[in-house]
Amino acid sequence: MIIDGERILPTPEELLPVEADLLGPVGGQALLWTGRATTGLYWAYRTILVNAAPTLGQPEVILPAIACTVLADSACLAGFRPRFADIDPTTGLLNLESAQHLLTPNTLAIVFVHLFGQTADLSPLANWCGQHNLTLIEDAVHALGAKLPNKMSIGTTGDFIIYSFNPSKSLECGGGGLLIRSDESRLALEQTLSQSPQSPPLNAETLALLELSYRDLYRSSTTLGRLHHKQPVPAIFPLLTLAYQGLFLQPLSLPSDLPQLWPELPKRLGLRYQKAQSYADQLANGPWQLLNQWQNSGVCWRYSLLIDNADQLINFSEAVRQGGFHVSNLYWPLNQLFAPQDYCPAADQFARRIVNLWVDDNVSLDWVEACAASLWRFSDLARSDDRREELV
Ligand SMILES: *Cc1c(COP(=O)(O)O)cnc(C)c1O
Repeated sequence: MIIDGERILPTPEELLPVEADLLGPVGGQALLWTGRATTGLYWAYRTILVNAAPTLGQPEVILPAIACTVLADSACLAGFRPRFADIDPTTGLLNLESAQHLLTPNTLAIVFVHLFGQTADLSPLANWCGQHNLTLIEDAVHALGAKLPNKMSIGTTGDFIIYSFNPSKSLECGGGGLLIRSDESRLALEQTLSQSPQSPPLNAETLALLELSYRDLYRSSTTLGRLHHKQPVPAIFPLLTLAYQGLFLQPLSLPSDLPQLWPELPKRLGLRYQKAQSYADQLANGPWQLLNQWQNSGVCWRYSLLIDNADQLINFSEAVRQGGFHVSNLYWPLNQLFAPQDYCPAADQFARRIVNLWVDDNVSLDWVEACAASLWRFSDLARSDDRREELV
């Protein structure tokens, strides 16, 4: 199905083959096509809220502290209070034990993010959700086409799964989707959509300005966060989600290029994997910790590593950038932007050390080799003082 202005329509014929390919391997019941993954997630949140028994306090959703900000923005917008679980320091993936500490009678849902393409055995998490009647949402944006450790497709565990086809993801033609796994959830979503007023899409100029403003907000907030190591900066994101509503809720623009691009996915994922493997080979045994769990899933979004010396992350990243290479430091801990009282020390350390390198179609294997060489050139910056002393 698709949101068209004020109405909900059946999936356009051109998208049916892609829809069948997404639903088939995970036994999904329906797909809601949207302009962004964030919009799909918002409707999953709304469906959960509308259909849950009333809670005493504000309904809560648990998110991993290391994730894209829009997961928490859309939660606030939908009426949830987002709570933040700490992460596994070796992968950046949600730490179940930390999530369990956040459980309250108001908790209705939890999101698992397949960060950087990594997957994990989700059965302990799914069992816990079952015990407490929590809805499990999988963020598969980085991991389209990935396999779980048991070789099943990702998306075979959660109640809802979100996908994105927007710039910087594995296919960059625009659009997003929400996969619904059970018939019961499909009915609930349809009902929720039919009872909710849909706002008209914004024009391109307004959207571009909102996007620019949001990027500025993110940059200035995270830079402040880096500076104020000990004292959290007041969380302004929850106050501003309504101002960015049009940015988060976008319809899919048609016709979509996805049907033409879709058959290329395996080839593109293969090329990404090859580049990621090249980084893994060249960067072995450096002053950093390589995050190589994507090797089990078959899918790498950006090649990611944690440098030993947190104090030099910005200098190190900038030095590599000066050589003409793309570097990002994703993500800043969401708890620090939305709820500083949620304590996530592993996420804090992770964010102060994370470096992401490009493996997409815009870079070649030669580029990857040169980029890895550049990391070695500046490896002295990445070395922590303890390790430097060891070497002396
Ligand atoms: C980009 C991203 C999203 C949001 O996708 P959109 O299509 O831009 O809404 C969600 N989760 C992760 C992990 C992302 O990288």
